[in-house]
Amino acid sequence: MKENFDFLMPSVNFFGKGVIKKIGNRAQMLNMHKPLIVTDKFLRKMDNGPVEQTLNSLKEAKVDYVIYDGVEPNPKVRNIEAAKKIYLDNNCDSIITVGGGSSHDAGKGTGIILTNGDDITKLAGIETLENPLPPLMAVNTTAGTASELTRHCVITNEETKLKFVVVSWRNVPLVSFNDPMLMLDVPVGLTAATGMDTFVQAIEPYVSTNRNEITDGQCVQAIKLVEESLREAVANGHNIEARTKMVEAEMLGGMAFNNADLGYVHAMAHQLGGQYDAPHGVCCAILLPIVEKYNIIACPERFAQLAEIMGEDTTGLSTRDAAELSIKAMRQMCDDVHIPRSIKSMGAKPEDFELMAENALKDGNAPSNPRKGTKEEIVQ
Ligand code: NAD
Repeated sequence: MKENFDFLMPSVNFFGKGVIKKIGNRAQMLNMHKPLIVTDKFLRKMDNGPVEQTLNSLKEAKVDYVIYDGVEPNPKVRNIEAAKKIYLDNNCDSIITVGGGSSHDAGKGTGIILTNGDDITKLAGIETLENPLPPLMAVNTTAGTASELTRHCVITNEETKLKFVVVSWRNVPLVSFNDPMLMLDVPVGLTAATGMDTFVQAIEPYVSTNRNEITDGQCVQAIKLVEESLREAVANGHNIEARTKMVEAEMLGGMAFNNADLGYVHAMAHQLGGQYDAPHGVCCAILLPIVEKYNIIACPERFAQLAEIMGEDTTGLSTRDAAELSIKAMRQMCDDVHIPRSIKSMGAKPEDFELMAENALKDGNAPSNPRKGTKEEIVQ
């Protein structure tokens, strides 16, 4: 537990049904004259989807814009280089990201190479950015990664297949928008994958070595909200109450890990994402019960508390037995929302394990894991 800490999140966070309509006015207030909209082709084409609604609000406020819609899942260096070119060619002065974690990270990455040097791979690590990014607002469409409010930017180097993280307070967007109405049509598989990412982002900071009392409170409420609402959001995507609770959980988990950091689930999931272009939330979900079972001996009492938070009856159980119940609850959640059980389903090949394990231990999320692992243990 940390006693001294900085606490970071965007200074303004719009939350709730219909808040997307405020974006034009906010762009004006921030003196954005020509923002680059960073998004993907699917969202751009969606009828009355998040991009169209963002553009409508900008048009009403008479704010000009230019669009880059080439963001790929696990966004690549080539995406941010292409976006930077469009930004410069069109004399843009700011960035608005519309989408899930991939769009937000691509927008942050574009901002990073506009003001901190061309080669983003050299900036991987913690607090490596010397200069501020252009003004950046984030419209979020998945619940989710919480990248719309975090200091993390996760980019994949397509040449080395390495997914790396630039962690800096300069990456925190100025304004975030979380409108659950934009998430009603998220398909079942994506709801499950992104919802499990939210679950992991509340569990890893709860057992992180960098946790504090504030992040503990955020994790507890985020986990309860996921327990209450993820199954329902997967089963009935148009249930606005379930969608709203998942966004609340996402924001709480995001605030928590922004300040308490993550652990080996994310450090290892990044390797699967980089190597096989596998969906991030699914990778995290598959790894969750395996990594946390390994972590139990480092802080059994924390895992026993997690079991209770997840609604398990721990009466009369030893700390160790109660801790094991938290793993059972994590696995049950994975099974209920149809997460596969093996990384084989992500295309993982044993011949790649050594290198991926080495890189996982170097990932920015590894140091705060409660148990210090060896390469052999990660391979295992
Ligand atoms: P994503 O952004 O890659 O989106 C996945 C797909 O969902 C895309 O095809 C997109 O078009 C579609 N989609 C998005 N919103 C939709 C909507 N409302 N309706 C219908 N379809 C929609 O997925 P993600 O899980 O949000 O982001 C994953 C990325 O975020 C990974 O690269 C991961 O490493 C990164 N990440 C970043 C942070 C951070 O703090 N920066 C934290 C965790 C993960």
